[in-house]
Amino acid sequence: QEDCLLAGLIGQGIALSRTPLMQMEEARAQGLFASYKKLDMEAPERRDMTLAQMVSAAEAAGFDGLNITYPYKIDVIPLLDELSENARAVGAVNTVVFRGGKRIGHNTDMWGFGESFRRGLEGADTGHALLLGAGGAGVAVANALAECGVQKLSIFDTDPARAEALAAQVAANFPATRTQAVSDITALFAEDRPNGVVNATPMGMAKLPGMAIDAALIDADLWVADIVYFPLETQLIARARAKGCRVLPGSGMAVFQAVRAFELFTGRPADAVRMKATFDAF
Ligand code: NAD
Repeated sequence: QEDCLLAGLIGQGIALSRTPLMQMEEARAQGLFASYKKLDMEAPERRDMTLAQMVSAAEAAGFDGLNITYPYKIDVIPLLDELSENARAVGAVNTVVFRGGKRIGHNTDMWGFGESFRRGLEGADTGHALLLGAGGAGVAVANALAECGVQKLSIFDTDPARAEALAAQVAANFPATRTQAVSDITALFAEDRPNGVVNATPMGMAKLPGMAIDAALIDADLWVADIVYFPLETQLIARARAKGCRVLPGSGMAVFQAVRAFELFTGRPADAVRMKATFDAF
C-alpha cells in the first residue's frame, strides 16, 4: 500500500542496530504508517528457521522489502530473482525489494560509502588509497572507492586470499582503477605512500579496541576514513584528527545505506539530514 512501509532487518546480533529506527522515523516523518521489524535469526523463536523460510515469510506477509546484514549478505543471493548492477558488482546484497512478485537484490552499502565519501571528503586526493579489510563490508567499500575515482587501490587483509580476490574483482569491475593486494603496510608507505586510508576491518569496535594500521604512519597529509561506528569516534579517527588529518567517520555509510534503502522500499526520496539526526540521537 502506498501510505505504508512494512520492512525488516534479517541478521544475527542486531539488537543495537540503528537501521530500524532510521527507517521508522523517516517513514513517520513522511506520513506513512510504518512497521520495521528486527528479525534476529538468533532469537529463540527463529532458531529453527532458515534464511529461505524467513525471506518467504516476509514476502508472504506483504513486506515491501528487507535489509540483510551479517552473516547473510551473500547467502541471500540464490533466493532472489534479480540483482541490481551494484549488487552484482559487489557480489553481496543488503537490501531486498519485493515488487511485482519478484525479489530484487540491491547493495546500498556501496552507494552509502560512496555518498559519505563524496560529501565528507570532497576534493580529497584520490590518487592512491589503502583499504584495510576485504571482508563483507570491505568489498562494498572497495568498489565504491573505485567508483569515486580512486586511481590506485591497495588492499590489505590479514587473510591475503581475501585481499587478492577483492583486488581482482575491483579491477574487473573498474578497469580504470589499478588495484593490488599488499602484505606489508609499512613497506607500502615507504615505497608508494597512499593519500588516504579506509578501515573496513572490525578493529576499533568497542569490543575490539585498537587499529589495523601502525599509528606512526598517520601524518597530517593523509585522509582517514573508518566504517566502524560503534564507537562513533574510533581510536583511528581520534588519532587521525589529533594529527590534523581530514577524517570520515563510519556513521556516514550507515546513514546513507539506509537513505537509499528507504528510497528503494518506498519509491520516495528520503531526507538524509533527518535520517542522520535520528542516527545521532540513538
Ligand atoms: P568481516 O568479518 O566480513 O570482514 C572483516 C575483514 O577484516 C576480514 O576479511 C578479516 O580478515 C579482516 N581483518 C580483521 N582484522 C584485520 C586487521 N587487523 N588487519 C587487516 N585485516 C583484518 O566483517 P565486515 O562485515 O566486513 O565488517 C567489518 C566492520 O565494518 C565491522 O566492524 C562493522 O561494524 C563495520 N561495518 C560498518 C558499516 C557501516 O555502515 N558503517 C557497514 C558494515 C560493516
